[in-house]
Amino acid sequence: MRRILTTLLFTGIALSGQAMAQDCSVEIEVNDTISFPIDELTIDTSCESYSVTLRHTGVMPAQSMGHNWVVTQTSDHMAVGTDAIAAGLDNNYVPPGDERVLVSTNVIGGGEETSVSFDPSILEPGGDYTFFCSFLGHFGAMKGTLIVN
Ligand code: ZN
Repeated sequence: MRRILTTLLFTGIALSGQAMAQDCSVEIEVNDTISFPIDELTIDTSCESYSVTLRHTGVMPAQSMGHNWVVTQTSDHMAVGTDAIAAGLDNNYVPPGDERVLVSTNVIGGGEETSVSFDPSILEPGGDYTFFCSFLGHFGAMKGTLIVN
């Protein structure tokens, strides 16, 4: 009987640890369309680190259907998306040194995967943030609301 109780206790700890880890990371799958599968993502600033994995399940190369994941204040996202076009693929469609860009991944093409980890405390709870793809004008359709708790 004691052994069973011990086993249950350890299982409980393992499960709660796993649940916490899942809350501090997300996987986002994109493909050959100009869209994200989610239009909203909630990030908790109690996470020490938050990680986003972007997976491109399409077949088109980064040159023609590249995607990334970029976070800015909502008021900056259209201007950054426009400036990103000039930055081009060499800069992962992020203007170099641009302080409006709070988080960004590399641009990937079909069959590729990338990820970024960041300290969520750089974001203000209740702030107005947008995540989007800054590849060649995708920001018009490929975006969502980042909710920070
Ligand atoms: Zn894109």
